Amino acid sequence: MKDVIIVGSGIAGCALAWKWLLQGKSVAMISNQYNASSSVAAGVYNPTVLKRFTPVWKAQEQLDIMLPFYKSIERRLGFTLLHDLPILRRLHDDNEVKTWKRKALREDLSAFMHPEVFNDLGEDAIFAPYGFGKVNHTGWCDTVLYMEATIDYLKSSDAFVQETFDHESLEVFADHVVYKDMKAKHVIFAEGFAMRDNPYYHHLPLQGNKGELLIVRIADLRLDYIIKSSVFLMHYKDDLFWVGATYDRDDMTNEPTSNALDYLTSRLETFLKVSYEIVEHKVGIRPTTQDRRPFVGTTCKHKRHYIFNGMGSRAVLLAPWAATQLYENIYNDVPLDSEIDCNRYKATS
Ligand SMILES: Cc1cc2nc3c(=O)[nH]c(=O)nc-3n(C[C@H](O)[C@H](O)[C@H](O)COP(=O)(O)OP(=O)(O)OC[C@H]3O[C@@H](n4cnc5c(N)ncnc54)[C@H](O)[C@@H]3O)c2cc1C
Repeated sequence: MKDVIIVGSGIAGCALAWKWLLQGKSVAMISNQYNASSSVAAGVYNPTVLKRFTPVWKAQEQLDIMLPFYKSIERRLGFTLLHDLPILRRLHDDNEVKTWKRKALREDLSAFMHPEVFNDLGEDAIFAPYGFGKVNHTGWCDTVLYMEATIDYLKSSDAFVQETFDHESLEVFADHVVYKDMKAKHVIFAEGFAMRDNPYYHHLPLQGNKGELLIVRIADLRLDYIIKSSVFLMHYKDDLFWVGATYDRDDMTNEPTSNALDYLTSRLETFLKVSYEIVEHKVGIRPTTQDRRPFVGTTCKHKRHYIFNGMGSRAVLLAPWAATQLYENIYNDVPLDSEIDCNRYKATS
């Protein structure tokens, strides 16, 4: 019998898998690998909200768990996943310069926002007349490598099944679950936006937010930082860069749109002063929630099936912390943070 069956192999499912594996538990993962938002994510982690200059909810607590978590996985896999890289927030006018300098002194932001405004990057390709504010403790996770390597790791012990989970075939008993020929102590659903088809948890108000981004080729540009303006620009590999992202709460299709293309390219061109070539246009649906908190926990009277979803736009930072919350709840009876407990929403039927 496995300790856990995890449904979904996105950033959320992989965080769960590693939380369990690193504690010596046995894992089986079932995933159809369809339309995952995680395969679109640039993987940036950032403890601040750079639109309003505020800290992310529980930013330091999440960072304290996230950094050693990915390092432990890197040691197990033998790959580098996390790339430490400062974010430079391009300031748009004198008011933003003043706001940056004032907010950087605040107790809850001073660990993340460098108080100085930087004017000269030594890079003529980037236009920034008001300079940049620098954010500390930021970078990106190679999410594509993370997911591929996790699936390969599980495959090497026959612990990965590629199929669509059929919820009707799940049998829940007092002390275990059975799914087809698999038996486990628990099953955890990490299905991203597809959670809407999950009969156990579809009462939860998952919203969805469509995001589009571009991969562009820029010759001879070297960036040792992530530029954040109305869109971000980040080096990916070779001469390829990420440009993102859009946010749309209405269109839930997986089709790339010309509106998003116009938005991304016009914003990029406000600060990129060299030519570029579009290589790829990517689309994903972020699993977002009304109150911006994830859904974690169970509605099962026997505590055999669990939900792990609603990572919004910050799965890389949030998922290791949330997986730790769930693990501690299941094995050590530590109550979940009440803001993430899925029981804050009650089923109406
Ligand atoms: C354009 C864009 C840019 C982003 N950039 C960032 C970023 O820089 N940093 C960041 O932290 N976040 C970013 N995000 C957000 C991030 O992508 C999401 O928070 C994250 O991907 C959610 O992960 P997830 O595992 O919950 O869902 P998903 O990635 O959607 O994964 C769900 C998984 O469940 C599987 N699945 C679903 N239903 C079933 C079923 N019935 N049977 C079997 N398998 C099933 C799917 O195949 C998939 O593997 C971005 C999102 C977008 C769209």
